Amino acid sequence: MAEAGSFAEKVKQQADIVRVIGEYVRLRKTGQNFTGLCPFHQEKTPSFAVHPLRQIYHCFGCGAGGDVFKFVMEVDKCPFPEAVRTVAEKCGIAIPRPPERSPEERRENQQRSALVEMHGEAATFFSRQLHEGAEGKVAMAYLEDRGLDREAMKRFGLGFAPFSGDALRRHLKSKYPEKLLEASGLFSRDQSGRLYDRFRRRIMFPIANDAGKIIAFGGRAMGDDMPKYLNSPESPIYSKSNVLYHLDRAKEALRRNDFAILVEGYMDAIAVARAGIANVVASCGTSLAEPQIKLLARFTHRVVVNYDPDTAGQAATERSLALLLEKEFDVRVLALPGNADPDKFLKEQGAAAYGKLLAQAPPYLDYLIARARRMDRSTAEGKLAALNFLMPYLQRLPNKLLRSEWASRIASELRVDEPVLREALRRAAAERRSEVKPKTELLVPPIRPAERRLMRMLVEAEGFREKLGEMLAAEALHRGLETERIFDALISKVGEHPDAATLAAALEDRDRRVLFEVLFEEAEEATWEEAESCLAVLRSRSVENELAELQKKIEAKAAPTELNRLLARRLELQKILAQR
Ligand SMILES: [Zn+2]
Repeated sequence: MAEAGSFAEKVKQQADIVRVIGEYVRLRKTGQNFTGLCPFHQEKTPSFAVHPLRQIYHCFGCGAGGDVFKFVMEVDKCPFPEAVRTVAEKCGIAIPRPPERSPEERRENQQRSALVEMHGEAATFFSRQLHEGAEGKVAMAYLEDRGLDREAMKRFGLGFAPFSGDALRRHLKSKYPEKLLEASGLFSRDQSGRLYDRFRRRIMFPIANDAGKIIAFGGRAMGDDMPKYLNSPESPIYSKSNVLYHLDRAKEALRRNDFAILVEGYMDAIAVARAGIANVVASCGTSLAEPQIKLLARFTHRVVVNYDPDTAGQAATERSLALLLEKEFDVRVLALPGNADPDKFLKEQGAAAYGKLLAQAPPYLDYLIARARRMDRSTAEGKLAALNFLMPYLQRLPNKLLRSEWASRIASELRVDEPVLREALRRAAAERRSEVKPKTELLVPPIRPAERRLMRMLVEAEGFREKLGEMLAAEALHRGLETERIFDALISKVGEHPDAATLAAALEDRDRRVLFEVLFEEAEEATWEEAESCLAVLRSRSVENELAELQKKIEAKAAPTELNRLLARRLELQKILAQR
């Protein structure tokens, strides 16, 4: 798809597939390749592999595979040109000029970049107000009182929005048209139609997208002003359900540790990160939205939820946690003693105590069972209520085996008859919407080692691949093989030294899968002797096939002259075979 000389071709040559895929999948080096959990099907053990030399990926489970662009197209569900742009951006390759867009699209893009720039300037403005402004002193004292030093305030970009209600507007109005100021969400209109600062006398937390660009703010009231937290409204650059606070700084640690600590608020995330635990993100609210879960899933599928367990938003909390379970996240719950929030606990008990509890955080269902056990279960109704409390969570487990294991656990912990529970579960399961089926299993037939080796030689045996291709073609040794089409493709391109992904583009999915599996095998460099012995295997096979055909014809009682010819040919072939 990447034509020679095109921008896509240039990007492909410079891009590092391991780095790009590494942003979506946690990859581990195994031998010459990298492996991880496949993003295209649900799995617990890695069958997804990335080949750094050939710049291809392949899943041995579901058969997904291709080059870096195919990966981005599939994972981001976007068309080819967009995938090229994404890869270029991720690898820091300059994009020559934006592809033709409609004037409207162009305007929207310009507006978005202007808004991002404006937010950057607003963040600098708020920060200066905190550190140098007269009014900022109170905010500074407040933050210091909460245990934040100046270094931490700088590190997390904290700021202060002054009381006047006009300071930010005056600061920005010469540079941005009023329409843009209004679209930013940083301002509101009063009854006379005048714009005024949305955030007044608040401590400002900049909210960045996962690329680290500031796109919104959260403002905490200083005194008793309501609401306690005021956030930017939805804007062309900000959608609350698409952002996790601190994700831009947590990415590395999320991948390294393969789990996320999920907290509620800015101060919690900052406190945990300051304790040296960088893999923390905040949902900024109790209910976690599906896009946020998808965002997190790019980095890890394991979450320790450290929400305040007894907030008013508990129902919302449990809804989001159930959603995590449904998305096959491994969910644990860290409930801090005394209903402390992470910020308070860390201040009082320190990082070591927090780390210890973090390591012991029980699986979510254990936590729920413990809660169900605290319910009054002295009566049959009580037992039923406890069971009904747990059932929705159990139902949401997509994995049947897990569901069954947990059903047994719940039965024994709540002392409910297991058959009763299983019956309830069965009924519930019947109501569950049908599960998403993995991609249809592609059947790869067993392929002779000689075929596998020959395919590989045609791709990489620099010394003799062309000679090998000519011999195969001249003798038609690959005719009738399961791998015939793959050989045809390889032989036809043998002089061009194409890369694996280009070869794959000419193949059907099933054949591409076979070829990639072969290319991912660890193998020693091939020699011409080995090539000859592989060719010999194919020659024997072709003779055997002909013999079998002859035998059929002979048994079908051909006419006498024809029979003589057949018998003579059979003798010839038998001699050839005997010589091997
Ligand atoms: Zn897969």
